[in-house]
Amino acid sequence: MTIADKLAALREQSLLRIRRQVDSPCGPEVRVAGRTLLAFASNDYLGLAADPLLVAAAREGAARYGVGAGASHLVSGHYAPHHALEERLAAFVGLPRALFFSTGYMANLGVITSLVGAGDAVFSDELNHASLIDGIRLSGAEKHIYPHLDLAALEEKLKTCHRPGKLVVSDAVFGMDGDLASLPALLELCERHDAWLMVDDAHGFGVRGSAGRGSLSDSGIVSPRIVYIGTLGKAAGVAGAFVAGADQVVEWLLQSARSYVFTTGAPPLLAHALLTSLDLIEQGGDRRSHLGRLIAELRRGLNFRRWRLLDSQTAIQPIIIGSNSEALEVGAALQEAGFWVPVIRPPTVPAGTARLRISLSAAHTSEQVARLVACLNTLE
Ligand SMILES: *Cc1c(COP(=O)(O)O)cnc(C)c1O
Repeated sequence: MTIADKLAALREQSLLRIRRQVDSPCGPEVRVAGRTLLAFASNDYLGLAADPLLVAAAREGAARYGVGAGASHLVSGHYAPHHALEERLAAFVGLPRALFFSTGYMANLGVITSLVGAGDAVFSDELNHASLIDGIRLSGAEKHIYPHLDLAALEEKLKTCHRPGKLVVSDAVFGMDGDLASLPALLELCERHDAWLMVDDAHGFGVRGSAGRGSLSDSGIVSPRIVYIGTLGKAAGVAGAFVAGADQVVEWLLQSARSYVFTTGAPPLLAHALLTSLDLIEQGGDRRSHLGRLIAELRRGLNFRRWRLLDSQTAIQPIIIGSNSEALEVGAALQEAGFWVPVIRPPTVPAGTARLRISLSAAHTSEQVARLVACLNTLE
């Protein structure tokens, strides 16, 4: 198949993606192609991405450190704010040490390939994020995919595996479904079968747990087996990610994770801004309770016969439509009415489960959510 054929095939299956150009800061109201849309599209769950305090901190960081790190962390690109950020992050999530990565995708690739290799085994929830899947593939470890949240199936696989290194990998909050992994139950299985537990909390860090410390704090578990990933481009409103865990594990990642070692350090101004972001997360109790109210209001208001609102208590509220083409039509009708709700299609979600992915933010108002509810109820 030529590239032209492949593109034509995507178009025929309603799978061709387009990018919209946004010409305003991330927020509930965004400018797109000369129109203002009410957006339920970002992962900026606390509404921090354009917060004036963060913008000021980024400016101050640029004034102090310039814009580029100039080299990788292990050469000369590791700056004081990177280091301070790692110390704050570790203390915040209650783990001994943290390492800052430029993106969550890179953190997942680097961490998995450093922890396991050919001869080891990885156990992965079927709905895990693409970056985890890619890290597993790249590691060369034997791959065991278990049905979504099915811990009995996971235990069967762990029981019969005799590889020297075992790693269980799971999203804490599943990004396209909004549901939660049971972290205490996963940890118990890992303890029983001598496995590492890698938790990707991209959608939980900043939102869940006491003071936004994330899903580990929410479930109250502690163990040297846990390797925790938090990302900093979603609720934290900036960019980047971190891994946190036992001191030696983090030292090993620093030495061996190729997506850490062989890349230019993220601009130090971002780390500087992230220190302010952590303050805002810690003091963000009101934002989190407002977000909780919006989630309840949305769920109470929606009333469908054919479409299906998934059972999610998080800011991610997916509505399953089914076919790609109908989902696209609904997305277009929403846009016509002035809303921006992303349509998520395969391969991001399983075939036949194309969906609207509503994401709520503490920056939304009740009135804005009510407008979306009214429009959706009419469209169905
Ligand atoms: C967004 C996301 C990532 C990737 O993080 P980036 O910082 O955007 O690269 C990793 N894992 C999960 C579960 C995510 O939702």
